[in-house]
Order: sequence, then C-alpha cells, then structure tokens
Amino acid sequence: MIASILPTYSRAPLTFTSGEGSWLTEADGRRFLDLGAGIAVNALGHAHPALVAALAEQAGALWHVSNLYNIPAQQQLADALVDKTFADTVFFTNSGTEACELAVKMARKYWSDKGEDRTEIITFTGSFHGRSSAGIAAAGSEKMTKGFGPLLPGFTNLEFGDHDALQAAASDQVAAIMIEPVQGEGGIRPLPDACLKGLRDLCDQHGILMILDEVQCGMGRTGKLFAHEWAGVTPDIMLVAKGIGGGFPLGAVLATEDAASGMTAGTHGSTYGGNPLACAVGAKVMEIVGDDAFLAEVNRKAGLFRQKLEGLVAAYPDVFEAVRGSGLMLGLKCKAANSDVVNTGFGQGVLTVPAADNVVRLLPALNIPDDDIALAVEKLGQVAEQIKGDDA
Ligand SMILES: *Cc1c(COP(=O)(O)O)cnc(C)c1O
Repeated sequence: MIASILPTYSRAPLTFTSGEGSWLTEADGRRFLDLGAGIAVNALGHAHPALVAALAEQAGALWHVSNLYNIPAQQQLADALVDKTFADTVFFTNSGTEACELAVKMARKYWSDKGEDRTEIITFTGSFHGRSSAGIAAAGSEKMTKGFGPLLPGFTNLEFGDHDALQAAASDQVAAIMIEPVQGEGGIRPLPDACLKGLRDLCDQHGILMILDEVQCGMGRTGKLFAHEWAGVTPDIMLVAKGIGGGFPLGAVLATEDAASGMTAGTHGSTYGGNPLACAVGAKVMEIVGDDAFLAEVNRKAGLFRQKLEGLVAAYPDVFEAVRGSGLMLGLKCKAANSDVVNTGFGQGVLTVPAADNVVRLLPALNIPDDDIALAVEKLGQVAEQIKGDDA
C-alpha cells in the first residue's frame, strides 16, 4: 500500500519537534547540531527571535492579500534588494523552482519582444534548478528527467568546466546561459572567479543574457550578499530562494531593467508570491544578512570552520579527501561513502546533507556560534573514528 505521503523522499528516522539557533531537538529529547539548516534555508538558525517577532507581528495584522493590491512588506523587501544588488526590479515567488520558471520565461520574452528567434538556454552538468518541467530540462540529468518526457525543449546542457564546448555553443542565437556560481546539489563545486568573468565577457560578446541561480549560494552564504560579487561581475537575471525567507517559503527573481523589459502587466503572476507573511520575514532577514558587519562575521566564521575542517581531513585521510566550497557553503569530498558519513552523523548528533560527487555538505546557520563550529568538527571527527572502526 502506498504511504499517505507520496514516497518521493527516503527519509531518515528522525522527527524534530523544536529548534533553537544551530540546534534541533528530536521527539525523544536528543539534541542535534544542525549543519544542514534545511539545506541552506535557515540562514539565521532556528527560531531567531527577530524573525519570530516579524512573523508574529505580521500574522496579527494581515496574512494574505492578493497582488491585485499594494503589499508594503513586499515593497520594502524589493527596495532593499534593489538597493543592495545589480537589480532594478524584483518578482517574488514561493520557491527556487518558481524563480527558475520566471527566469526562463523572462529571457525568452526578452528576445521575442525584440523580434528575434532566440530561445536556446545553455546550462551545465551537475546543476540543479528545481523539479518543474523547466527545472529538470535545464539540469538535464538522467536521474531527474527519466520518464518525465517530453521535456521542455530549448536547453543545451554542456559539461561543467568544458570551456571549448561553451565557446562553440555560445552564439548570437542563444537566449541565455544559466549557471550556479557554486553548484550545491552538484557537490559544492564553485565556479572560479575567472570563469564567471569569462562567462560574462562571452555573454556580452553575443548579447546573451546571463542568468545566475543563487538559490543555494546567495543571501550571505559565501560571505558576500550574493556569490557573484566575489568575481566582480553582475548577471542580467538572478534566482534567489532558500535563505532569503530564513525558513519561511520565499523566492525571488532579480533583474536589470533591460532584461525584465518584456515582463509587462499580465505576462506573469503568482497568488502567494510576495505575500505579507513571507515578505515581513524576508525583509527582516535582509536587514540582518545585508549588513556589512554581519557578512564580515560570516567570513570570519567560514575561515575558522574551514581551517578546522582542513585539520579534520588531514587527520582522517581514509574517510575524507578534501574541503571545498566558499564561505559557509562547504563540502567535504569523501573517500568513505558520503551516505555513511551522513548516517553515522545521526548517531553522533550532527546533521549534514549529502550531495553528488560523493560530497557531504556543511551549510550551517550563517550566525553559528564559534563554539558550535568547534563542536561540529569534533563530532565529525567522532563520525570518522566510527567509520574507521567499522571498516577495520
Ligand atoms: C534548491 C534549489 C532550487 C530549487 O528551489 P526549491 O525552493 O526547492 O524549488 C533551485 N536552484 C538551486 C541552485 C537550488 O539549490
């Protein structure tokens, strides 16, 4: 008999009933150090008092109004994002997937309005852009697309890091190139700054729109508000979600005035996108994470964490191979099976997230206390000891 919850996830036998900061409490009372943060969602940890207050205050005033009317919290958040980024305009969604949908529509509409037949979007292996028809066609992996055809046409999936293939595919017929500055699901694979710069040049050369998917790597995760800032280039369109709502469902598409020029009244919409509850929380997240002093702390913590992780890898070369990533978007490339590391972690009271390429992701709350960073590495050391013991 099928489970009453559609069985698309194989879930760990854990049921969390409350959370505070970087910690989650299981129904049986055990406490877990959360290095997954809902897969980079709980950017400020669990139950951050300022976010709880923002949500409660908005909940007491007004839950929902249609986008047929003005929504002050949405305006406030849009203004803050425009103020702090390359973008001139923002559309709010409820998820990263919906942001991907709009980005694809926006790019195609841009060229359609110019009377040009440019619909092709270049994407890369190992990427993840959500599970909608556009999202899976964009990622192009067998695992995500098998059985779901016919796929949305118009995506060319190139080998990640194959510069020659990219040079050959880029032309004045291409509508857009979509890429994650740091691949998340693909195994914490950062695009070197020089490559992102080169990609910007290539896009400029052919008039191609550059779409960055910062759903996982954005919102302070790498130590800049958005990851592309490290390379000193800006996209035309950007997808944001996960961290922006701090745990409340919220996503966004940010764009330049030019890239967004096709999206006039009636061309797109969302019932829930940009609702008062989500935007009240999002505005508070933005206020905290968008602060330079906060981002400086993320960088300091990231340096501390990374240094300790390098020590861990050196101490357990049979279990771990390397540390990779940017800021607090960290990956442990494993020699043992990454699933063993994650599952053994459950017993040691530490939560990590697997990714492709045999990597374990560490995506802690951006405000994780230094003591918890030290404890995290200690627990990961115990995990490695146990795996070594099991193998012996
Ligand atoms: C999680 C993710 C998405 C999809 O976001 P959802 O909110 O799950 O729809 C898209 N792109 C990237 C890079 C992601 O990590």
